[in-house]
Amino acid sequence: MVDIKKRIFLKKVLLTSPLLMSTNNIFSQNIASYKRIAVEETFTIPEIVDALRDYVSNNPDAEPGLSAPPYIVSETINTLYDLGKERISQMDKANIDLQVLSLWSPGVQIFEPTQAEELSILVNNHLAEAISNYPSRFAGLATIAPQNPKKAGEEIERAINNLNLNGVLINSHTKGEFLDDPKFWTIFEAAESLDIPIYLHPRIPPKSMYQPYSKYLMDRALWGYAAENSLHAVRLIMGGVFDQFPNLKIILGHMGEGIPFWLSRMDSVAKRPGVTKIRYLPSEYFKNNFFITTSAMFSDPILDFCLNVVGEERIMFAVDSPFASSEDATNWLDKANISDHEKQLIYNDNAVKIFNL
Ligand code: MN
Repeated sequence: MVDIKKRIFLKKVLLTSPLLMSTNNIFSQNIASYKRIAVEETFTIPEIVDALRDYVSNNPDAEPGLSAPPYIVSETINTLYDLGKERISQMDKANIDLQVLSLWSPGVQIFEPTQAEELSILVNNHLAEAISNYPSRFAGLATIAPQNPKKAGEEIERAINNLNLNGVLINSHTKGEFLDDPKFWTIFEAAESLDIPIYLHPRIPPKSMYQPYSKYLMDRALWGYAAENSLHAVRLIMGGVFDQFPNLKIILGHMGEGIPFWLSRMDSVAKRPGVTKIRYLPSEYFKNNFFITTSAMFSDPILDFCLNVVGEERIMFAVDSPFASSEDATNWLDKANISDHEKQLIYNDNAVKIFNL
């Protein structure tokens, strides 16, 4: 890892020297051998959207936020359905070689267990078929229904062993429950034993924490997603999940949902009396068991900061398409003042290794 002083020095040299800067750009273009792999890219299928509409109209109070527009009536819905030529041409325009696909939040996690299981099987089969149509352009993360943890573990095995999917994505809380509850740990057992990552993806906060987020459309990307998903990730750490599953890999989008910024404070507070004892410091779990992605956070200072906190082997490129622009994302990272080696890892090598691509 390039340390922070070296990074600032390099940036100053590059910014103040037009010759060096242009040499650097030519250099990047000539030797870049990596593919641009984007790892948080969204799709859905009509059966899920129909079930979502039914659920929300029959249970208007169960999942606050989901019944409010613009969630269900989305202009992007046809973009989410497309796993064919139009999506590929959008990827080509943005120089994206491969998308790691996952189901639109909240996945199947709002439904009753049997319906959720059936839909997860349908979605995973659909995804495997889309990948088989474009094997060099798509990979995918399995959908599971944590509502029945034992069945969810079995679906992980089927998705990895039979459908050759590349990991699992869980849309954070399931009906207000979090995965630090040991009743869900068959899911972690399956993921750890198959050596596949779990992408912990945000969604609207549950009923128990919704009210303060209900104004200003704060319940989603503005603040609510990161607040809820970071809470979930910290619960996994403090709940001893990684003491039980030391090789479990969790991926967080949006540059770690704010957690890298808080690690030093969490470490100092974790030593205080009364705080649940876990084997290591929170930051040690974060640096050993977590990976973060650039989804919808195309910012140089945040990239610099995260490189210094978690290192270049723990960051992967993601767009969060179609909710963020693929072209903005690659334009940003292509031009970022980081080394070619770091770009190679973030765009390509880390994803190949973690998702076994
Ligand atoms: Mn997303």
